[in-house]
Amino acid sequence: MTADTQDLVHYDAVVIGAGFAGIYMLYKLRRLGLSAKVYETGDDVGGTWYWNRYPGARCDVESLEYCYSFDPELAQEWEWTERYPAQPEILRYAQHVAERYDLYQDIQFNTKVTRAAFDDRTGRWLVSSAAAIDHIDHNHAPAGATTDLVAADYLICAVGCLSSSNVPDISGIDTFAGEVCHTGRYPKEGIDFAGKRVGVIGTGSSGIQAIPVIAETAEHLTVFQRTPQYAIPARNHPLDPKEQAQVKAEYRRLREKNKAQQGALGARFDWNEGSVLDVEATEAFKEFDARWEIGGFAFLGAYGDIARNPEANHVAADFVKAKIRETVTDPEVAERLIPTTYIGCKRLVLDTDYFATYNRDNVALVDISENTIAEITSRGLCTADGTEHDLDVIVFATGYDAMTGSLLRIDVCGRGGLSLAEQWHAGPRTYLGLSVPGFPNMFTITGPGSPSVLANMIVCIEQHVDWIGDCISYMRAKGHRHIEASEEAAEAWVDHVNLVASYTLYPTCNSWYLGANIPGKTRVFMPLPGFPPYAEKCDQVAAAGYEGFQLISS
Ligand code: NAP
Repeated sequence: MTADTQDLVHYDAVVIGAGFAGIYMLYKLRRLGLSAKVYETGDDVGGTWYWNRYPGARCDVESLEYCYSFDPELAQEWEWTERYPAQPEILRYAQHVAERYDLYQDIQFNTKVTRAAFDDRTGRWLVSSAAAIDHIDHNHAPAGATTDLVAADYLICAVGCLSSSNVPDISGIDTFAGEVCHTGRYPKEGIDFAGKRVGVIGTGSSGIQAIPVIAETAEHLTVFQRTPQYAIPARNHPLDPKEQAQVKAEYRRLREKNKAQQGALGARFDWNEGSVLDVEATEAFKEFDARWEIGGFAFLGAYGDIARNPEANHVAADFVKAKIRETVTDPEVAERLIPTTYIGCKRLVLDTDYFATYNRDNVALVDISENTIAEITSRGLCTADGTEHDLDVIVFATGYDAMTGSLLRIDVCGRGGLSLAEQWHAGPRTYLGLSVPGFPNMFTITGPGSPSVLANMIVCIEQHVDWIGDCISYMRAKGHRHIEASEEAAEAWVDHVNLVASYTLYPTCNSWYLGANIPGKTRVFMPLPGFPPYAEKCDQVAAAGYEGFQLISS
């Protein structure tokens, strides 16, 4: 970057992304009296909940827990309508927050940050952005030329863990005559599936939510499944105002209790510590049945060792397999839907009528685990055995280049021109998931190495934003100009994350937690299991004068 940086507009902080992390960060920076600018690719706030407009899109964390807690008045005034919030309601909530705290004025929409480089000469970040160009695969950089270049003391990346959509590189994709979309980049105007032959590729959380809804209107739906998934009924329902009032009467206590849970959620359910192996199978099945009726992640709380012990995991998995066989009337289809991995090793999916959907006459299941998709033609999709599936619409529910994709698609360069891609060539290396060695004054909200996607994202976001805010206040009070994680601290932190993960069954399957869904991506377990010890560690680091960081005053 050769611009004369003296002439540039300068902000105390630039924030990338106006999802839940970005808008709370902006609120926090304002409260600290700092000037800030937020850049956002979409044309409104909401982040992942702006883009994920696919049919059936709904959060798998309960509404009363999937919201901010920083302002008790906000928490009391917003009324949720359902147990699990649907995408439009979450988007309205994000818009409400942005309006309530007058945040819109500092957010520049339809703008994509293309490059952020630390200028060794001035000690500031130089941030380039361009007009965003909508495209199904937003991993690709936009074609627009740089339109804006600003300088900032702090660069705060609030880019989201699941925002860089993964569209597989299938030959012929551009020749398809029908409509193509990705669930994470779903068209605002929606898609009318009536009278159409639809193909859905992918059976993760997004596919499993979309499939039953699409099946209701499509003439025919073909599901292309590479790996079967465990799904537990969500048991969504309208929220009883009395129940909501009761929860809100003790809201602060509930939110605090949640923070003491491993996943920072579900404090209203019992999370048993006992082993499923200490009880008779009939008793265990009775407990699982009760939790199956409650719905949601309460299922995983039945016993403490499901996520850790293979034998214990089998008992829980067998229960769900029995439910699939009970629900799906065609035994051959049921067997194709039975997962072979550990339950919970890929993110457990909450569903509404997913397995029952395969009993419909207009739904077919195609196993592409071995008979892979060979090509897409103008008429549809062709599998390796030569079978042609004629389609009018193809929905990619193929997930994300998770946790690192959104950051790496920006050209981020730290001290001495070190690129983030180089720094992370062997997998993401952060200290606390908040900071990267070589990248002074850059913070990553819910970055790799923090609990993030293994916990309630909103709780994780608030904890990170509060920590970053406190850190900046500390630096200003002490006259420190730069903060940077040390190489040793990041090294030790990566080892710690891997060690904690190795006590669980998470690393045993090809999940996006490991980057295994993206061809060529280095396989490293990225999120850290366990919110409470993590938050405690962050507090300890701060209390010890930001141990593991170098603080520089000039
Ligand atoms: P995902 O869990 O990564 O699932 C992607 C699906 O596409 C998998 O079935 C995957 O198969 C398949 N796939 C990927 N590449 C493929 C290829 N080249 N050919 C064929 N199939 C391919 O993605 P997601 O469903 O979008 O969910 C991602 C995460 O977002 C979730 O785990 C969850 O954390 C979050 N999410 C949450 C909600 C909610 O709150 N309810 C809703 C949606 C998403 P393999 O399994 O074989 O890789």
